Amino acid sequence: MTEQFSLEGKVALVTGASRGIGKAIAIALAQAGAAVVGTARPSNLALAVRTKEEIEGLGRRASAAALDVRSVEEVSRVVDQAVAELGRLDILVNNAGIALVKHSIDVTEEEWDRVMATNLKGMFFCCQAAARHMINNGGGKIINVSSQLGISALPHRAPYCASKGAVVNMTRSLALEWARYKIYVNCLAPGPTKTDMLYEPVSVSREDAALPFRVPLGRLMEVEDMVGAALYLASPASDGMIGQTLVVDGGWTAM
Ligand code: NAP
Repeated sequence: MTEQFSLEGKVALVTGASRGIGKAIAIALAQAGAAVVGTARPSNLALAVRTKEEIEGLGRRASAAALDVRSVEEVSRVVDQAVAELGRLDILVNNAGIALVKHSIDVTEEEWDRVMATNLKGMFFCCQAAARHMINNGGGKIINVSSQLGISALPHRAPYCASKGAVVNMTRSLALEWARYKIYVNCLAPGPTKTDMLYEPVSVSREDAALPFRVPLGRLMEVEDMVGAALYLASPASDGMIGQTLVVDGGWTAM
């Protein structure tokens, strides 16, 4: 690994590090040298603890925290606690997210609010809490996980597509605002990736069986496909880049 991709001495916080893409990114950041705080919702804290133990097995410092990103108060507390425990915060990966696949005419207000509170509001306040430390710390890297559905769309996913599209443009605004502090804010947009989210039971007949055929590469993404892009965005290798969306979707949005 070249020096440009090294995260030696850095501290990262990854939301939703209990499983899926977040867990893969948390472990990859540790392999590149970072100490990592990984979060999960209180009910799944044991899974975040498992991620922490795997990272410690790599010889890196790690911590696990319970966090529901929908609570602004909890976000602030967990970010402050991470800084107190590991001394600083250099990298934030805003990965926590939920999907909703449902006919739009049946979507309830509660479901709309839950998707937005998790995927958008939670992400904004995680950015804010981290930036408060990064500003005093000489800067940092923020990676907001959007989706190929933040750029293109599918039916039955209006709240999800709205939240992920908003993440792309919120990222641009934050990047412009915080460039002066050397806080580099960018998006990572995965395509359909083999995680629990992709296989959640849904109420509409799924076209997901056909998903691989919509991907020009002819296969679903693996969580490992996200790791190189995340490492690039977290490291000095991407120091010339802010407000951008790095799309890892097997060519979906190229069509
Ligand atoms: P996943 O396996 O379902 O994992 C979702 C993660 O988000 C879990 O760690 C979960 O924590 C966490 N989370 C959910 N709601 C939360 C909340 N309110 N507060 C805190 N954490 C919460 O899904 P994934 O596929 O890895 O998704 C990760 C990100 O990639 C999401 O933002 C998703 O939208 C995006 N993405 C995924 C795909 C895909 O096809 N898989 C495609 C494009 C984008 P718990 O363990 O506590 O539930």
